[in-house]
Amino acid sequence: MKKIGVLALQGAVREHIQMLEALSCEVVIVKHVKDLAKLDGLVLPGGESTTMRKLLNRYDLLEPIRVLAQQGLPMFGTCAGLILLAKEVIDYEPHLGVMDVVVARNSYGRQVDSFETKLDIPAIGDAISAVFIRAPHIVSAGEGVEILAEYDGKIVLARDGHLLGCSFHPELTMDSRTLEYFVTSMV
Ligand code: GLN
Repeated sequence: MKKIGVLALQGAVREHIQMLEALSCEVVIVKHVKDLAKLDGLVLPGGESTTMRKLLNRYDLLEPIRVLAQQGLPMFGTCAGLILLAKEVIDYEPHLGVMDVVVARNSYGRQVDSFETKLDIPAIGDAISAVFIRAPHIVSAGEGVEILAEYDGKIVLARDGHLLGCSFHPELTMDSRTLEYFVTSMV
């Protein structure tokens, strides 16, 4: 059974846990450094990246997670999680700074402008349900980064080796294929 951690400081934690369990993973709720031991993969959920950053500092998790990313632990950052992974964040300091992408925050308007759409993602499947909530997007990506999906001319899903990042929330619908891609193809 694959052991997947879910960073549980803030944000859409419970939905990720439920979906990962439905995908037959053993889920570890990550709140402290000790929870990072012996993981096969780590999910960084959506929420609010600036709040998460404060909590990562408070719980001394930033550096240990960065080291694991540099050592090759597969990680999937969704929405705010993508912002945490990115090497560069427009107008803000980067956080983990490990994924070779530049992201912009809040690219699709405010909370009230949240929407759900279907994305055709060749590497994963057709008509994948994706929920966008004050979502970021990937402005540019390094040479080694695989662009997996775009929406409205903007990159919304990309893979940098063992690091996957998406603009949307893949855990807020019944469609588990994006998370399944991470668990089966990357972990
Ligand atoms: N707008 C949030 C941020 O900048 C991300 C939103 C989300 O994760 N749904 O951190």
